[in-house]
Amino acid sequence: MTSDPAVTFAPLSRVAVLGGTHGNEMSGIFLTRHWLKNPSELKRSTFTVTPLLANQPAVDRCVRYIDRDLNRCFTPDILHLDSNEALPLEVRRAKELNCLLGPRGSEEGMHLIIDQHNTTANMGNCLLINNSTNHFCTHMVSYIQRTVEAYECRVLALELKDTNLFDVTSVARHDLGVELGPQSHGVVRAENVERMRKIVQTALDFVEMFNKGVEFPECELDIYRHVRNVDFPRDVDGEICAVIHPERQDRDWLPLRPGDPIFLTLAGRSIPFDGDRTVHPIFINESAYYEKRTAFSVTERVRVRLPPIRRDREGEGASQ
Ligand SMILES: [Zn+2]
Repeated sequence: MTSDPAVTFAPLSRVAVLGGTHGNEMSGIFLTRHWLKNPSELKRSTFTVTPLLANQPAVDRCVRYIDRDLNRCFTPDILHLDSNEALPLEVRRAKELNCLLGPRGSEEGMHLIIDQHNTTANMGNCLLINNSTNHFCTHMVSYIQRTVEAYECRVLALELKDTNLFDVTSVARHDLGVELGPQSHGVVRAENVERMRKIVQTALDFVEMFNKGVEFPECELDIYRHVRNVDFPRDVDGEICAVIHPERQDRDWLPLRPGDPIFLTLAGRSIPFDGDRTVHPIFINESAYYEKRTAFSVTERVRVRLPPIRRDREGEGASQ
């Protein structure tokens, strides 16, 4: 009969909205450029919002990255590197961004980073959080789901331990990745810009409500937990020898059962999924993941109960 006590969090003072972490994912780049010139729609009364292009050289060339994938550079070993000399551009940039937006684990950094991405996969509207144990983040994505219900946002949790964090959002106290697809890299499409804009606005509205003392009651949330990445079948030379099966192409999030066709060879042979249970594949045939040897990612869907959350009392005192 008794419900869980509310989990409390300090109010948020600083939020960063990033585009161009990948320099050819155009929804966030387009919007971030707009907000840099016209910041008024990001304005809220209880916190500051800083729009930022995370990898300007890559944006200028409209490529994902110059030397290496920036959004895999926020690992403890890279962030603790001493020298800036002779380091790949994105390694240097990751260290700069960690100073600018963090540093990770500090009090003085951003309280929330919203990072905008596109995917060529048919992912629809994906809200990405690093951990479903952070109930500020779980309530934020739940609020976005309810508020823009027509978008059918799905929640992906990477479930990373601190030592395994790798992306730019992880330098802030709270994190939100917005991953919209399908969209070819280097292309900007109106409907995706509009969806991205609305989702970012809704996230900022959530922070504003939270800061003002709104309590968010306990609720349930369906989460897709990242399990592993699956490579394409390869021949003895290491070359891809089968493509995503046409019955699976564009069917991101939908159940994939053991034995379901997943790849197709040029000889017309179907290769079945060899997992031992039903999973939910995502990032199916994402073009940027060929180099990462990932044909798709496997997730499992779980329903979790979120405890109520509210602003902590220290925050209430501070605002009076
Ligand atoms: Zn991206």
